[in-house]
Amino acid sequence: MEDWGWLQGDRWGSGRGLVVGEERRYDPAVVPERIDPRPGRNTDLGFDVESGAPVAISLGRLSDKMWPGPLSANGVGPRLAAVIGRLDDYYVTVDPRAKTRCIDGRHDPELDEAALGPQVPGGAPGSALAYRLGVDKDDLTRGTFTGDAEMMIESYLRLGLSPGGHRDEDAESGDGIGCGAIDGLQSVLDCMTNPMLVEDHKRLVKTILDADFNRDHYLRVMGAGLVLQSRSVGYFHGRGEIIDLLERKAPGSVSMLKGRHQEAFVVVNMVDGTTLSSNRFAADHGGAQAFGYDLWRSRQLVQALFPLPSHQVDRERFIHARVMLTIATLMAITDGSLQVLVRLPAA
Ligand SMILES: [Zn+2]
Repeated sequence: MEDWGWLQGDRWGSGRGLVVGEERRYDPAVVPERIDPRPGRNTDLGFDVESGAPVAISLGRLSDKMWPGPLSANGVGPRLAAVIGRLDDYYVTVDPRAKTRCIDGRHDPELDEAALGPQVPGGAPGSALAYRLGVDKDDLTRGTFTGDAEMMIESYLRLGLSPGGHRDEDAESGDGIGCGAIDGLQSVLDCMTNPMLVEDHKRLVKTILDADFNRDHYLRVMGAGLVLQSRSVGYFHGRGEIIDLLERKAPGSVSMLKGRHQEAFVVVNMVDGTTLSSNRFAADHGGAQAFGYDLWRSRQLVQALFPLPSHQVDRERFIHARVMLTIATLMAITDGSLQVLVRLPAA
């Protein structure tokens, strides 16, 4: 966790940039606001859900337990009702040519709202571990993350999907690249296979995958994670080099994120072709950020990577591994106090 250690200490409340009025404070632990997505409801909360518009549903906090990650949303953040009622204002149509972004909620000074790429954990290289755990038929005792990520970047380029990744401004001084979903990969695998966390993990994966959840896929990916964990030092060695490689293979695809982590929300977005305008979201919410995961993008990616009817099982396993690793990433970087929202297409 050393790459996230700088998050500890002064991160909320007295933090720079986070100006949240007293009346906008809430404690996610104490106020589990229930949002009813049906039209005509919630008018007492100051908004209504338009029929035909995408629906945002609150799942409450990530967990009632304490997760190992340092990032906390406890005590400070905009009111959930205010965020959920206007969530759609912050979703824009993706530009298919724009580089893939990480779920990281921090500020990207170069972001162009008219040309936003979809958000997935760790950007394009982040898919590599899901491939290794969910799909790869090789022996798990071989291979490296860098090799897998290189193959993933090449697949993106071949399929016309713009890859992308990021560093952060602190990466120069530290030993990581500044992307928690890549620097922290060993902790991510540790969290996924941690017996203390497995119940929470399965609950969230099941909720997010809903009818697509498959117990056998879940257990298979979990088992693959455990086997890989036995040699994770070797597998992840040199993983930071993947960003240099990405830069070489796809010039201009690497962003530099600035400022501190102040994520208070996780939004799992299932509305095809849309993505979160992360800079504008934070700017309008007193600096509170959101981790945005465009799950529809993982589904689009599997269709491109495994296009044949006979690839159905590979597609399902990849999606399971990607969602499982996303939850494990949140376990490694947060304390479980963030609010989770799911954004669904109109019924
Ligand atoms: Zn990242």
